[in-house]
Amino acid sequence: MKLVFATNNKNKILEVQQMLPATIEIISLESIGCFEEIPETADTIEGNAILKANYISEKYGYDCFADDTGLEVEALNGEPGVYSARYAGEQRNADDNMNKLLNALSNKPNRNAQFKTVIALNLNGKQHLFTGIARGEITLEKTGNQGFGYDPIFQPEGFSKTFAQLSLEEKGGISHRGKATEQLIYFLKIK
Ligand code: IMP
Repeated sequence: MKLVFATNNKNKILEVQQMLPATIEIISLESIGCFEEIPETADTIEGNAILKANYISEKYGYDCFADDTGLEVEALNGEPGVYSARYAGEQRNADDNMNKLLNALSNKPNRNAQFKTVIALNLNGKQHLFTGIARGEITLEKTGNQGFGYDPIFQPEGFSKTFAQLSLEEKGGISHRGKATEQLIYFLKIK
């Protein structure tokens, strides 16, 4: 089965591809000739996943899936949430975002947070949603250089390392996207 993964993030493609069975081949946006920015204008994580998947199915006619993720921080009432990518501004810079978050938490004892991923799958004219959550806490400083985004300041529950100190396989086994992808794979296998 061939499915377009509606993302330009090469890290995400690697993370997801290494979890998929060989029978499911991911097609990139590049290879279907999609080079434009896909709209992400919804105000919920679910809404953005749906917008992205529908954009590809409707404009390019492919079965596809899209994911959207947000980091929800308890002491900040769930922020940055759906605005995680551009928390510190439209430059969407991971370092700026992490610095802003570390500052926002500097006088807050509660550092609990969770990543939430929603995957929207458009297959044979029907839509299916899968959600994955990874709980943990925001560290006091950045550690590690694997991964992307907020990985250097997110320590998953039960670990003494940040996501940025874990290998792709280790992160994939416990991460929000890993959990949502497991559900996607299970669904595709029983189809
Ligand atoms: P997206 O909607 O999946 O692109 O995610 C929005 C933003 O959340 C990204 O730009 C990153 O800042 C952050 N993010 C998403 N997934 C991860 C992850 O696995 N680790 C760290 N940050 C992430």
